[in-house]
Amino acid sequence: MNDPMTPEQVRAEVTAEFVAWLVKKAREHRVKGPQYAKQADVIVRLADKVQRGAVRPNNLLSLPPQGGPEDIPALRAELDQLRKDLESYEVLNPQQCPAGKHADWLVDSEHTHTCPWCELEARPSRTKVLREAAELGRELSRQGYSAQEIAKRLDRMADEAGAATP
Ligand SMILES: [Zn+2]
Repeated sequence: MNDPMTPEQVRAEVTAEFVAWLVKKAREHRVKGPQYAKQADVIVRLADKVQRGAVRPNNLLSLPPQGGPEDIPALRAELDQLRKDLESYEVLNPQQCPAGKHADWLVDSEHTHTCPWCELEARPSRTKVLREAAELGRELSRQGYSAQEIAKRLDRMADEAGAATP
């Protein structure tokens, strides 16, 4: 990358990047639910306009038709402004199941969260837990513990399990 980019190349790159980003935003809104369909449509129209060059930096910034290297800071500033205008759409981000098995879900930050459906699956079923409790109760009863003592012991085990897994 020794050759400096021409303003046209910078413009093409910035446009492609921005269009891709808009398309992603539109898709995220679509995922959020029907109440966001209108916003998604607006973003899609905007992406289309940008792609077709309907939003020419020259139109917006009254730059000379061919532009020069001096256009680049203005283009960057324009992109920053467009990004800022769309910041309100940045509230929720879709997350994908790392196992690729479950529906996407939304979180209110860029941080990756573990898949809630995978977490649910990893939990033992209620049936299994109750069978284990019954088995433990029988075992403790054989060892001579009273029903009250067994209940107390199960409570303590539940407390410990609760402290280990929130
Ligand atoms: Zn999952």
